[in-house]
Amino acid sequence: MKFRLLIALLLSLTGMTAHAQFAEPNGGDLERGTLPQTWATGGPKCMEMPEWQVHEYNKDLYILRQSGCTDAEMPFLYLFFGRDRALLWDTGSRNGDLAPELEHVVHLWLERNHRESIPLIVTHSHSHDDHTWGDSAIQSIHDPAMPITFVPAKVADMQAFFHIANWPDGIGSVDLGDRRLDIVPLPGHDAVSIALYDRRTGILLTGDSLYPGRLYIPDFPAFQASTERLIAFMEGKPVAHVLGNHIEETRTPFLDFPIGSIYHPDEHSLELTFGALLELEDALKAMNGKRRRMAMRDFTIWPLSPEEKGLGKEMEEIEKKTNEKQTRDKWDQPRP
Ligand SMILES: [Zn+2]
Ligand SMILES: [Zn+2]
Repeated sequence: MKFRLLIALLLSLTGMTAHAQFAEPNGGDLERGTLPQTWATGGPKCMEMPEWQVHEYNKDLYILRQSGCTDAEMPFLYLFFGRDRALLWDTGSRNGDLAPELEHVVHLWLERNHRESIPLIVTHSHSHDDHTWGDSAIQSIHDPAMPITFVPAKVADMQAFFHIANWPDGIGSVDLGDRRLDIVPLPGHDAVSIALYDRRTGILLTGDSLYPGRLYIPDFPAFQASTERLIAFMEGKPVAHVLGNHIEETRTPFLDFPIGSIYHPDEHSLELTFGALLELEDALKAMNGKRRRMAMRDFTIWPLSPEEKGLGKEMEEIEKKTNEKQTRDKWDQPRP
């Protein structure tokens, strides 16, 4: 185990060199932003929690997080603004009333930028319902200040919209106006998964394919091939942060929160580095096609058996028990 960690570390170090990005440590030509030390989760007191936490990464990029008091998935959503258009990544999970929050944020941006309107593209990291639950509510927004182009989470629609000639080997893109976003097909966690690279900030969105948590993999060969394709595409491109859709890890290395938790005290940071992607690739390779669960420092590789539907009985029981207890305690969670 120690040997493997050393290899992973060396790989990530050599990876950082091979993917070296700027001659001087001066921030390069990336547009800067900030991430919070900790995010709101679901508590300790649900009476005090807003349904959405809005974080300004910088004036043209906002990160929205759904409260655990509404749903244990607590997904992260991303809202990019370019000169001509904006793009929303995902629409939230169960009971996430995104539409009014989204309108609020877009209107504030318009006010700040002395603009009357901006067209909005709505797209998805993948098709699972903890990222598409808000689709119908978003589609029924009819606000002249933010006319919506809705891209369904289906391969054909994504291919057409992002001009991806071959799925999954091609690369797509969309230009928001002085802001080109690259789209990389990433099947494995879901047949429709994609990654998004923002050249302006150097942020790489990896959805549910890489985040500080349990990486559920129903299609292992596709997932491994996708990871390798993503790394190949990122060659020579600076990565400021790798940002996913969830956090399920604690700040203690190799330790996650039980599935179904709505309150995450002492939660892992959202951001990972490009080294995590190299570490993931290395661990997948080391399995030699023999898929197995493997807890890494900041995430867990979690292959799912194709025969069993969902996460399996054991996980479902933990999820139910944890969720019932924490939902009972949601007005005042016990502190660690
Ligand atoms: Zn998913
Ligand atoms: Zn998810």
